Amino acid sequence: MAFGVVQGVGFRPFIYRLAHDLGYKGWVKNIGFGVEIHLEDQKRTDFQDFLQTLRKKSPPLAQIEETTVNPSSFTGAEHFEIKKSRQEESFVFISPDISVCKNCTAEMMRHSDRRFHYPFINCTDCGPRYTIVESLPYDRKKTTMKSFPMCPLCRKEYTDPFDRRYHAQPIACPICGPQVTLLESKTRKEIEGGIQKAAGLLKTGKILGVKGLGGFHLVCDALNAKAVRKLRKIKERKRKPLALMAKDLKIIQKFAHISREERDLLLSLRRPIVLLKRKKKIEGIAPHLDEIGFMLPYTPLHYLLLEDFDLIVATSSNKKDAPIMKEEEEGIDELSDAVLTHDRPIHMRADDSVIKVAAGQPLFLRRARGYVPYPQPVFEALRSDRHILALGGELKDTISLYKNGYIITSQFLGDLDEYQNYQYFEETIRHLTRLFQIKPQMVVSDLHPDFHTTRYARKLKIPHLKVQHHFAHVLAPLIEHKYPIDRKVLGVSLDGYGYGEDGTGWGGEFLLADYGGCERFAHFASVPLPGGDVAAKQSWRMALAYLMEAYGDDIPALEVFDKVSPDRIKGVKEMIKRNVQTPLVSSCGRLFDAVSFLTGLSPVEMEFEAEAPMRLEAAAADGIRGKYGFEIADRRISFKRTIRSVVGDLQRGLPVSHISAKFHNTLVSVIARVAQKAEETHSIDTAVLVGGVFLNKRLLEAASNALKRRGFHVLRPVEYSPNDESLSLGQIAYALKFLLDMKSNSPYEGEDQVKKQSA
Ligand SMILES: [Zn+2]
Ligand SMILES: [Zn+2]
Repeated sequence: MAFGVVQGVGFRPFIYRLAHDLGYKGWVKNIGFGVEIHLEDQKRTDFQDFLQTLRKKSPPLAQIEETTVNPSSFTGAEHFEIKKSRQEESFVFISPDISVCKNCTAEMMRHSDRRFHYPFINCTDCGPRYTIVESLPYDRKKTTMKSFPMCPLCRKEYTDPFDRRYHAQPIACPICGPQVTLLESKTRKEIEGGIQKAAGLLKTGKILGVKGLGGFHLVCDALNAKAVRKLRKIKERKRKPLALMAKDLKIIQKFAHISREERDLLLSLRRPIVLLKRKKKIEGIAPHLDEIGFMLPYTPLHYLLLEDFDLIVATSSNKKDAPIMKEEEEGIDELSDAVLTHDRPIHMRADDSVIKVAAGQPLFLRRARGYVPYPQPVFEALRSDRHILALGGELKDTISLYKNGYIITSQFLGDLDEYQNYQYFEETIRHLTRLFQIKPQMVVSDLHPDFHTTRYARKLKIPHLKVQHHFAHVLAPLIEHKYPIDRKVLGVSLDGYGYGEDGTGWGGEFLLADYGGCERFAHFASVPLPGGDVAAKQSWRMALAYLMEAYGDDIPALEVFDKVSPDRIKGVKEMIKRNVQTPLVSSCGRLFDAVSFLTGLSPVEMEFEAEAPMRLEAAAADGIRGKYGFEIADRRISFKRTIRSVVGDLQRGLPVSHISAKFHNTLVSVIARVAQKAEETHSIDTAVLVGGVFLNKRLLEAASNALKRRGFHVLRPVEYSPNDESLSLGQIAYALKFLLDMKSNSPYEGEDQVKKQSA
């Protein structure tokens, strides 16, 4: 038996061919979490040749976690067959969407092939999956390909076990499959010439809407600064970085440095956007930052569009803060000059995934297309027979579902305070619960009483657990890395905002935690957040708040405040002094904002989340060892001294690159100091680095190194993002531990207690 992701990925046909090649009789069928293979042969009893090839040559989408071999009785089978499976008992997996494979790309470029230049070519090893599936088991009639009856040639390939398109559900050709059309925006008039013509339009500076796998991209010539400006105007984004799609690696190398790991990610079948260190500036693409996001083509259509084009902007098409568009009717016309579209419907939206590499491992900024819905296995001791739904937080939300030992985490859903994203959230819950046949018996939400997710949970009228934001952050990598139960870790949970157990805003948290609970071991000292949420967008407000903490009323005059009108400054100072509209926060993100503003790097008004911190990180010089002072008293970490020293350095004229480096070093030192204390007082030997702040690669790498030097094991999310996207995963971990404790404490399997404690 082979366990893992082996269903819907061409695994059974592969086994069938392998058995044939090696001359075995018997059968293969899908079972719960894998496949069962029965092999027999008159002469052979050792199946090593089979097992070795199984490991080495299994299909690219398959992910074998474990194989077991058991003796079985001889049945005298006459041939090898693929047996029908009884689906109802199993957890059926569905593969993520995968980029077009080498074989298909080669066929598509061959003049003599019947699929020459056909933009929907695919095979068992490649093509759309998650975004076209309506329900399971994965079968053509349950995908958006159901409206395309196969032609005789396609059917022949589909039914031939020796063909590489055997049971390739989205199989298609120019005769029977989907077709591309190029439309003029607004008039909807068809433009002759298809993909080639579309590439021609890009060359003249036009903005195109291009239908991809999980939605529409907005596309323009990346090297045409005028076109890029136009696209920014349409998207209402002045500075937010735009992702690029390059024809091949060579083109990317002209503009960015690529490490071996980054290269592997760019070329991987999942084809994420990879953030790379800039070598050469491209006007208007990532202003004020030193990284550019690149990806390679992943659908046949992209390959054809880039046939004689080097580099395009390919940013997801959405009206500000709404989800990526999947249908033309959602308004792609309003954003583009022309639309390159097709008639294969997208069932589930999914944005491109975004990754960078830190210390040789992936660091997810956004986990979506190509990765979702890969399951997360749960180790035996923590499994439950209940179905659980976890709803995450509010910003950068995802949902997670638990069933039979596996967790499925959804794609990134965005900010649920936007109505369309909230609909997307509901749409995703409906889709995933149906797809995986999950009937939630327990729901988990954040502690925040007013989050849309918390309200949604209440409406379900099933046992409802709540988990504090930063604690959920810590639990996500614990379950990802199968960290044992009942061993405490130090969770270093640094981000912008999360509702704290005491009702104040948290975000600079050091938690002693295991699956069952946590204790606030240390935290950043709270400061006022002048004006509430608006302070998260206007870093000068945080700079003032920190200055007043450090100096009292008599704050030093700094040139950088010339950017803000004296009236506004006066207003905010009054606010802080009088304690009006100034909720308290212990946020690490806000501290970054303040320092970024003081050093003159942050804009007065941020356009996107973390803009100020990202600029501060980008500015930091290498090789600076200095750091600033800070104070820890009564579990509170105060940065008054840090702020005073930053101001001193500014007044001395120290370069901003040095100040930024020293500030980063200071935080590393804080983390190391608290960890040492946790080791001394609680014998903690593992630290977990989580929260959006750890998307800062400089801080993440330096903090991990510092902790490792002191003998700590360091855990961080690798398959998931450290930001709020992984809250739902952590929430599931908490629920599983909760159910386990209930089970061992009550003769009635804890049913009453579940009701009582979660009421
Ligand atoms: Zn293929
Ligand atoms: Zn066909």
